[in-house]
Amino acid sequence: MFAEIITIGDELLIGQVIDTNSAFIAKQLNKIGVSVYQITSVQDDKPHILKALKDAEDNVDIIILTGGLGPTKDDITKKTIAEYFNDELVLDNSVLENIESIWKKYVRQTLLQVNKDQALVPSKATVLMNSNGTAPGMWLEKDKKTFISLPGVPFEMKSLITNNVIPKLKEKYDCPFILHKTLLVYGLGESTLAARIEAWEDALPKHIKLAYLPSLGKMRLRLSVKGFDKQQIESEVQAQINKVLPLIKNEFFGYEDEDGNEEAIIGNQLTKLGKTLAIAESCTGGKLAELFTANSGASKYLMGGVVTYSTQSKMDVLKVSEDIIKKYSVVSAQVAEAMAQNVLKLYKSDYAISTTGNAGPTKGDSDAEVGTVFIGIATKNGVYSEEYNFGNHRARVINKAVNKAIEILQK
Ligand code: ATP
Ligand code: MG
Repeated sequence: MFAEIITIGDELLIGQVIDTNSAFIAKQLNKIGVSVYQITSVQDDKPHILKALKDAEDNVDIIILTGGLGPTKDDITKKTIAEYFNDELVLDNSVLENIESIWKKYVRQTLLQVNKDQALVPSKATVLMNSNGTAPGMWLEKDKKTFISLPGVPFEMKSLITNNVIPKLKEKYDCPFILHKTLLVYGLGESTLAARIEAWEDALPKHIKLAYLPSLGKMRLRLSVKGFDKQQIESEVQAQINKVLPLIKNEFFGYEDEDGNEEAIIGNQLTKLGKTLAIAESCTGGKLAELFTANSGASKYLMGGVVTYSTQSKMDVLKVSEDIIKKYSVVSAQVAEAMAQNVLKLYKSDYAISTTGNAGPTKGDSDAEVGTVFIGIATKNGVYSEEYNFGNHRARVINKAVNKAIEILQK
């Protein structure tokens, strides 16, 4: 079963908005065994949309469009679909009621004709009611092909995909099951890892696909397999994982969860152990804390954190002694360790992590070479730190420091 995703909007083609809708939809389709054949972005322009529809119809079974359903003149997806289906727009009373109730509850302005017009849908369409917004989703069929048009606003689209589109597609098509299992591996370059697991990789059965996805000091190793017997697929993949794990036992970090959060893996482990964490950040500027708090349930283990960016704040807030800073520099193992120890005490946590470094592009309050980062770890039993150099590109230094901190914490 194949699908094409067509995202519509001028803003996507001038780089003003990044197309995140496709990634979300592709992931959800994959889960029900639908392979995405192509992702296309087109302008809010009738000939372009018509051509994209025609091309997609030639290639795939399921066509999902997002965007261009708003009340303004630049949103023309609905009219274009009506034309494509030789259809006319008719008023859908249930959609009108939904618009009126949203208006009453949230907007409290006069309902204009253009707003009421959002209740016009192609007569051949089945409405997918959008409880989060005024633009309805639409489901149309032509021969064996399915066309689904959804609003562009990501949270409206997501809710329609999850609650309406996926269940309906599962009902209509007999989809195989696709299993992706992603192993997170830290601290090995792509070629080193590939060499290490070469014999295992060469012996993988043809229908199990392996992908390397490298990024800033970490690697995602994804195994994918498709089939109708879920249990059999799962045990097949697990058997392969059992073979590869001994080869990467020091570098294996955990399995990536659905949203790809490593912090969630650490968080779950801490929660299971009943242990807590505190964070003292300098060069990472709060990014570590943000990553952890992005996961629900972080309050079970994350006691708190501070961003002591200036040298003064390291002394004032974290009570790092001026002597240590003067003697060793603010970017040093000693300062990283003092930050970790003191934040551990401050929050009475079981573990603490700290970062201090020089992300560049020029030297700051210390003489440390650009890219130098110290990461400190404290527990009630002791403290240690590690020194790195992450290069001279500021954003990369910061992100690598964050990844490394998470890696160290996992150990
Ligand atoms: P509405 O009724 O809310 O106007 P719509 O279907 O007209 O819905 P658009 O006007 O196309 O939606 O897009 C609304 C907003 O949604 C855009 O400003 C953009 O920020 C976001 N958006 C649209 N398409 C995408 C996409 N493919 N990926 C991420 N965001 C998107
Ligand atoms: Mg638009």
